[in-house]
Amino acid sequence: MKSGTKPRILLLTTGGTITMVTDPEKGLVPCSAADSIIQRIPEIAQLAEMDFLPLANTDSSNILPSLWPEIAKALYERWNDYDGFVVTHGTDTLSYTAAAISFMIQETDKPVVFTGSQVPLEETGSDGRANLINAFRVAISDLAEPVVVFGSLIIKATRAKKTSAFDLQAFTSANVPPLGTIGLSIRLEPNRRVRSRRKPLFQPFLNESVAMIPVYPGMNPDIITFLAEKHSGIVLEGYGAGNIPTEGRSLVPVIQRTVESGVPIVICTQCLFGSTEMELYQVGRAALDAGAIPAIDMTPETTFAKLMWVLGQTNDLKTVESLMQKSFLGELHEGG
Ligand code: ASP
Repeated sequence: MKSGTKPRILLLTTGGTITMVTDPEKGLVPCSAADSIIQRIPEIAQLAEMDFLPLANTDSSNILPSLWPEIAKALYERWNDYDGFVVTHGTDTLSYTAAAISFMIQETDKPVVFTGSQVPLEETGSDGRANLINAFRVAISDLAEPVVVFGSLIIKATRAKKTSAFDLQAFTSANVPPLGTIGLSIRLEPNRRVRSRRKPLFQPFLNESVAMIPVYPGMNPDIITFLAEKHSGIVLEGYGAGNIPTEGRSLVPVIQRTVESGVPIVICTQCLFGSTEMELYQVGRAALDAGAIPAIDMTPETTFAKLMWVLGQTNDLKTVESLMQKSFLGELHEGG
């Protein structure tokens, strides 16, 4: 950042509640004048010189993975023109997008800050104003990695999980402490990645053909056969430490067949916190022996986005396994 001048921040918008308005017939809908809603927040102009890039304007439930490389490309093409980036996004799928962008632009030397809100900026009691201002404060800080800023937390983007459909603190940092907290001031973890001169790695790989499904009592194994016919990879949210049914409606034979046919199956935990530990129980080992890949302590959202990114580079099962279990940006505890 040049001293004496205001930092330059690019605000990339994609829609979401933060810029929605209420339509009496349809409920909350994207507002066509999203930029004018945001420009009514004077603090932003005090903090930074902002440019506005509306890339999409949709409820994030409608966002397709094909938007992820577009966002990554838009950021990367403008990388040298700005001191930081803020991306507004609906909260429903924010974790998926934030994780995908983290894999697509690595070795970052400045922050990419994802934010949104539970209540629209236009409504009384909105958390959007504070979230947006805080996102800009973090975007001009010395942090240099993709993060989610929401409520009082600054969360590594690959660790952010929407855990409340109601609370204004909608996101939690899964399995690692937050990178910072926002209270009377902004406190950042000493071990954070900080700004330095380096060139980011642009790797917009994506194979969108990944399915994700939780294991549930009585699950019909044919569902996995069906998914495997239509997809290049599957994320299975196992129970607890990565366990699956192995008696009655056992999933073991279908996992084995699917993996042998060249379609990787990655098992994460459907618990909010914790890690796969698939050696622990007979019902976890059986999945391992059938060829499933443990996701360790990655969230389902990050496991899903990462598998798309990995399969965008290779179909070789051994390489898929080693890339899925490698920590690129602290998204998992290696060997954990
Ligand atoms: N349905 C909204 C969305 O994800 C929810 C939100 O933004 O809070 O776009």
